[in-house]
Amino acid sequence: MSETVYDLHSHSLASDGTLSPADLVARAARFGVGVLALSDHDTTAGVPDARAAAAGHGLELVPAVEVSVTWNNRTLHIVGLHVDLDHRPLQAGLARLRDYRHWRAREIARRLERHGIPEPYEGARSYARGTIISRTHFAQHLVALGRAGSVREVFKHYLVSGRPGHVHGEWAGLEEAVGWIRGAGGQAVIAHPARYKLTATKLRELISDFQDLGGEGIEVVSGSHGRDEVLAMAAHARRSGLLASVGSDFHGPGNAFVELGALAPLPDGCRPVWSAW
Ligand code: AMP
Ligand code: MN
Ligand code: MN
Ligand code: MN
Repeated sequence: MSETVYDLHSHSLASDGTLSPADLVARAARFGVGVLALSDHDTTAGVPDARAAAAGHGLELVPAVEVSVTWNNRTLHIVGLHVDLDHRPLQAGLARLRDYRHWRAREIARRLERHGIPEPYEGARSYARGTIISRTHFAQHLVALGRAGSVREVFKHYLVSGRPGHVHGEWAGLEEAVGWIRGAGGQAVIAHPARYKLTATKLRELISDFQDLGGEGIEVVSGSHGRDEVLAMAAHARRSGLLASVGSDFHGPGNAFVELGALAPLPDGCRPVWSAW
């Protein structure tokens, strides 16, 4: 018997991924994933279709969400695993974040338009196939316009701090996000912690705040972590007692992200998030 492959962080067309939930699940099964979490940004709209598809592939689908958070003036992502989709405060909180996304999209568009980009809102909107609009959709539009060679390049030149289309995020508080997830019976997990470029002191502060609120896990293995980052995050997990999660953060084939299930094993001494299931 080979060991079950867990991939606890992925995206579909319901947010900024490029595959439908059913196609995502089929691909995960094809790449040997046994347990997949669909964790779209600020929405669970893709979960029912993913769940239905999973049954046909003998794959376990974990209902999940990746919540956008502002903590100490920075944007962070908190994944909620095994959330009850019918929990009203969670859905009300996510709806508020989607409303904010729509306001922010108008604001990003206004800035890009001033910068000479034609019809940025309509363009981004045409890539957004679900209920959220993301910076990724603006990036796809700008690539199609020939303003940059790749989504990554668009982020660098247009969408990050100091660039013409940047809008400072005002997302959920950490306490709100963890509260919604726990209220919905889920496990809260700090997503791709190495991406935030926090000092070790700041990261310890985040972990301490997060644990005080009832947060339980941290992504140790992530598609956006290099080898050294995996080891550094494993040390944080062991020191703090947080459970360790594993997720590709897959957004679709043919981009710079890691393939579904193509993840390193958890370093020794980490307790996996699924040990609590
Ligand atoms: P948003 O939540 O709308 O601000 O968009 C964040 C999303 O943009 C992330 O989840 C990634 O999918 C994508 N993203 C962020 N930074 C980059 C980057 N440098 N290159 C490519 N995609 C990025
Ligand atoms: Mn994304
Ligand atoms: Mn993220
Ligand atoms: Mn993600």
